[in-house]
Amino acid sequence: MLLKAIAICSFIYLTYWMYKDLRSRQINAVMTIAWLSALILVPYISLPIYLIVRAFSPKKISNAQSISHLCSKCGYENKKTSSCKKCGNTITL
Ligand SMILES: [Zn+2]
Repeated sequence: MLLKAIAICSFIYLTYWMYKDLRSRQINAVMTIAWLSALILVPYISLPIYLIVRAFSPKKISNAQSISHLCSKCGYENKKTSSCKKCGNTITL
C-alpha cells in the first residue's frame, strides 16, 4: 500500500517535471501534449526515450540574450542594430 502511494507520488512528480522541462525548452504545445500522454500511457518506454532525446537537445538561449549584441570596440550592448549606438562601430555578428 505504502509502496503504491510512493510510486503514484513519484509518477505525478515526474509528469510535472517533464512538463516544466518541456516548457523551459520552448517545445510547442502539440509536442508537449504528445510527450506527456506518452509518459502517462507507456512510462517505461517513453521516459528512457525522453531522457535520450533530452540529452541531445541543449536548452535554447532565451530571446533576450540572442538579440542583444555587444560592441567589440566599446562593449555597449546593442539591440537589433548593425552599428553601435554609442560609438558607431559596425557590429559583426
Ligand atoms: Zn560601440
